[in-house]
Amino acid sequence: MTSSDHRILGPNDGPAAEVINPQGTAPICLVCEHASAFIPASLADLGVAPEHRLSHAAWDIGGLDLAKALSKKLDAPLVASRISRLVYDCNRPPSAPGAFPERSEVIDVPGNVGLDDAARAARVNEVYDPFRTLVKTTLNRFSTPPALVTIHTFTPVWFGQPRDVELGLLHDADDRLARAMMANRPDGLEAQLNAPYSVTDGVTHTLREHAIPRGLQNVMIEVRNDLVSDPAGVARFTDILRTMLTKALATQEAL
Ligand SMILES: [Zn+2]
Repeated sequence: MTSSDHRILGPNDGPAAEVINPQGTAPICLVCEHASAFIPASLADLGVAPEHRLSHAAWDIGGLDLAKALSKKLDAPLVASRISRLVYDCNRPPSAPGAFPERSEVIDVPGNVGLDDAARAARVNEVYDPFRTLVKTTLNRFSTPPALVTIHTFTPVWFGQPRDVELGLLHDADDRLARAMMANRPDGLEAQLNAPYSVTDGVTHTLREHAIPRGLQNVMIEVRNDLVSDPAGVARFTDILRTMLTKALATQEAL
């Protein structure tokens, strides 16, 4: 097979990633790796059953709405993927099995079973590389080193188990911003460090790839998706996160 046999994005599919509010002036770069459920027509929904096609397996439900609202409130640039994580999970390196998930929680992804090297390479070239490049070039445009903040949502029930945590603040080797945000959490919010996932689940790829080598403050934010399922919820969490981030970064500057 030639590489053209594996071409994924069609002429009308648009770019794999975008920057929203590129002129934003806050010293914060927002990233949303799981912003979109879009699967290009060439991949025929990857064989995912229609009832699961827009589930949390395909994207972070409410994640882009929240990230966009934060981008506006903070006046910060936002880099967002425009392709479903079932095609390529932009928060995973190409070497990770989870970059092309064959199964997500209880949902099968038949179109990812038995991918050959050429099919994997096409997804890396067309989805991951443009996203990664856009994060890099966006970070390069800041005049002072920004904080890198990734925005995610998680499903309220995982393998049948309800999750009590409402807000997760995840970190990799650099825990400064996650801990400073925890110290500024509002009363009555079930916020936890490194929940419902942590570095051992391999979820800190973007932080590790783009923030830690540059010495940037960074955090991965996970919001339970039932709390941002409508505009009122998005507005509430936009205010909560904006306040926590602003206070945390002010504390860090004062150190
Ligand atoms: Zn996510």
